[in-house]
Amino acid sequence: MIKCSNNGFPRIGADRELKKAVEAYWKGLSTEGQLQDIAADLRRRHWQVQKDAGLDIIPSNDFSFYDQMLDTSAMLGAVPARYGFTGGKVNLTTYFTMARGNDRKVAMEMTKWFDTNYHYIVPEFNVGQIFSLSTSKVIDQFNEARELGIITRPVLIGPVTYLALGKARPDCFDPLDLIDNAVEVYKEVLAKLKAAGADSVQIDEPILTIDTDARHIAAFDKAYREILGTINRPAIHLATYFGDISEHLPMLAKFNFDFIHLDLDRAPEQLNAALKTLPAKTGLSLGVISGRNIWKANLAALYQKLKPILADRGSRNIIIAPSCSLQHSPVDLGRESALAPEIKEKLAFAVQKLSEVKLLTAALNGEKSALEQIEKYSAVFNAKNAARFTDPAVTARIAAISPAMANRQSAYPQRRLTQEKTLGLPLLPTTTIGSFPQTPEIRKARADFKAGSIDMAAYEQSMRDEVARVVKFQEEIGLDVLVHGEPERNDMVEYFGQQLNGFAFTQFGWVQSYGSRCVKPPLIYGDVSRSAPMTVHWAKYAQSLSKKYVKGMLTGPVTILKWSFVREDQPLSVTANQIALAIRDEVADLEDAGINIIQIDEPAFREGMPLKTSQWKEYFDWAVNAFKLATCSVSDSTQIHTHMCYSDFNAIIDAIAALDADVISIEASRSDIKLLDVFNDFDYPNEIGPGVYDIHSPRIPEVEEMVELLEKMLKVIPAKQLWVNPDCGLKTRAWPETKAALINMVKAAETIRKRAK
Ligand code: GLN
Ligand code: ZN
Repeated sequence: MIKCSNNGFPRIGADRELKKAVEAYWKGLSTEGQLQDIAADLRRRHWQVQKDAGLDIIPSNDFSFYDQMLDTSAMLGAVPARYGFTGGKVNLTTYFTMARGNDRKVAMEMTKWFDTNYHYIVPEFNVGQIFSLSTSKVIDQFNEARELGIITRPVLIGPVTYLALGKARPDCFDPLDLIDNAVEVYKEVLAKLKAAGADSVQIDEPILTIDTDARHIAAFDKAYREILGTINRPAIHLATYFGDISEHLPMLAKFNFDFIHLDLDRAPEQLNAALKTLPAKTGLSLGVISGRNIWKANLAALYQKLKPILADRGSRNIIIAPSCSLQHSPVDLGRESALAPEIKEKLAFAVQKLSEVKLLTAALNGEKSALEQIEKYSAVFNAKNAARFTDPAVTARIAAISPAMANRQSAYPQRRLTQEKTLGLPLLPTTTIGSFPQTPEIRKARADFKAGSIDMAAYEQSMRDEVARVVKFQEEIGLDVLVHGEPERNDMVEYFGQQLNGFAFTQFGWVQSYGSRCVKPPLIYGDVSRSAPMTVHWAKYAQSLSKKYVKGMLTGPVTILKWSFVREDQPLSVTANQIALAIRDEVADLEDAGINIIQIDEPAFREGMPLKTSQWKEYFDWAVNAFKLATCSVSDSTQIHTHMCYSDFNAIIDAIAALDADVISIEASRSDIKLLDVFNDFDYPNEIGPGVYDIHSPRIPEVEEMVELLEKMLKVIPAKQLWVNPDCGLKTRAWPETKAALINMVKAAETIRKRAK
């Protein structure tokens, strides 16, 4: 019999119960006991949902109060020295301090989990690092489920992935050197799980799907020789996800893993190789239901594809599964009551994906009723696409895209001369990134408008008042290029998605981003187009208030795409071009309305990069093209800006230059060293504003400090190319520090200008 399983269920709760409970605890509004009770209740409900869905294999230890990598650090006792952990068990206070810091201790670093929008806490290893078992969470939660009558398959992040994603502090050894010691703890955990009654344990090693080198493979070899070599352990289910592991199959074939899980959504081609290469005694877990997207699976097609392959599998054990943990998927579509029926019928969230796994498994096991259900279920795929999804006008526009549309009229040196004349900006022009503080008043006006207690006119008026205040402030402190402040925008993607065709919004489609923070990405279900200008009246109004230039402010196509759930029925490049054409129309309208400087933000440009370097070129080709398609319609005298929230351009500086924006603002204040290196080696051709202060903290930078930073920058970036700006938008800041910091920033620019004379 083929079994059905899950690799991880979203822990946040359909109502974001976990977020609310954790935040209440942080605020001191509840006790640890109350928090633990809510968590236990959530786990119970989630196990029950999975049991009700008919799964044979249900995970445990997929729950976390903050992050599963942080849980692993706690399990191993890998607590950086500054948190004062002296052995024994890592308690909840230490755990949360590691994640969030406190007024005396900085938090551990956080970064993106592979190519997802989930962020993990980066393990940090000190010199002389010793691991020892320091939490019993994985065993406790196995026992907790067992007491509820469910024998789960506990999930652990594998030691190689865990160490490979960590950092040595100071950076003087390779974390993978710690593998032997880590494995000792894993073996202890596995023995305890075995004793508690676990038959099987899922060990996640997604590191195998990215660029690995000899160090990874050596560590992997050591770790699994040791783990698989022990008698006293449950069966080992090695889980890989987010990509292809074909290149490692010959190596994996030498081990006697009980099961290997493959992400067949991302990399379906690896199945045949796995069947051929792996020994028959290694079972296969087929991750065929996407854990990363929100569309129904085409079960009939999957059935047709898998049936002949599985008929041929001999004695090999097979499990059907989602492609990865469902933590990257919203919880339950059942709660959505506002989606159009023809959109809703195409969707599946975590709960629905479990039913898909079950149904497909039952059909593959030859259950007749399941087969019939699959046929019916798949009718949505065969139904002709409704007008709602495809728009012939968009198809025609895409077909008519010419290479010339993605190039400016003149090359940058020529544009520069034109812009110098027409814009007449000073040396080292000062500007900001777009947003100003989203004050409680702004949020209240938006909430009132949503609730219907104020009307559209009243809402718009209060936003206009805010724009006027912000413009006046910027003039007073002497900024050179102004912004309107973005008070009317709830979110830089949602704001545009709500005005574009082809986008839909859920009520409860939350996905964990990090810790207690959840995001609700829009979904792109159909052809994207713009019916009417989206930002022009705001830009015009703001510009009418000042003689200085006010930047038009848009979100770029790559970021809109990356921060949404996307269609799978056409290449990403096509969807990107559709969005690009809509933005292109907006850019043209802004230019026609007399806006001479237009910024198109692409903070997600780098995170769109595929995990494997071999795929970068293809990505950059379409991503750069989409940005240029969106921006290149303008005349030479219109200045195009872009903004990205990072400064690690080592791998992508060529692509950044290829965007050919006249000006790019980036983050730099937190990591100027790396950045300066890049610009030392590469002559960036256009203008650039490396952020001179960090907006992520309320700290007010001194004038002198920014002067020094600018001087450092001037060593690698010619003065004529340098802009002066903070490193990101100011919406999360409060006014007092914003004012003080910007006043100092303008002074710093003036100081340098005087010296240059
Ligand atoms: N223009 C946006 C802002 O200032 C950019 C935000 C971002 O880079 N994430 O808020
Ligand atoms: Zn930013």
